[in-house]
Amino acid sequence: MTIRQKMISLLEERAFGFRELAKQFRISDRELADHLSHISRTIKAKGKHLVAHPFRCMECGFLFKDRKHFAKPGRCPRCKSTHIEDPEYGIGP
Ligand SMILES: [Zn+2]
Repeated sequence: MTIRQKMISLLEERAFGFRELAKQFRISDRELADHLSHISRTIKAKGKHLVAHPFRCMECGFLFKDRKHFAKPGRCPRCKSTHIEDPEYGIGP
């Protein structure tokens, strides 16, 4: 089983946080973002989709809604805080 297949089967069971997933697979944020974007395309072909909640700034509540990729943002564009809340990922129909 590849790392992506393992990730898909985990995410089908329940939602996982970004950091939780990176820890689980012992990979970097960048690698995880890459896997998630591939997974999102792979499962789309099977009629499912990756449920990804947007990253949220813990200081001012800013939501990173317009992000096209899965990488964790460095800082909030509104208040410049680096306290960004981990979003949860899951697989839904
Ligand atoms: Zn903010």
